[in-house]
Amino acid sequence: MNNEQMEIDRLEGELQSRKDTLKRVQGSCSHEWEPTLYEPETYMEPVFSHYEEHGSDPTPVYTYRDKTKDRWSRTCKKCSKKEFSYSQKAVKYEPSF
Ligand SMILES: [Zn+2]
Repeated sequence: MNNEQMEIDRLEGELQSRKDTLKRVQGSCSHEWEPTLYEPETYMEPVFSHYEEHGSDPTPVYTYRDKTKDRWSRTCKKCSKKEFSYSQKAVKYEPSF
């Protein structure tokens, strides 16, 4: 095993151990959330274009277009854990003036 490989293995081990530590810290944190952010997710949506003939087997060909999906995020001030949500719930009561 050469030095490069040894260094990569060492760093991978360190990365895993740091991930484990972070997971423990975030698991026992009493989270204090920063204000929720609207952070839509972008993804590629397939759009049917045409069929290509391969013998007797027509194969559908797709093109892709950018789409966005509603998404919200919140980050903990203390442990920096970030969570995403794709749904909203109705707020039952709010003050009226
Ligand atoms: Zn936290």
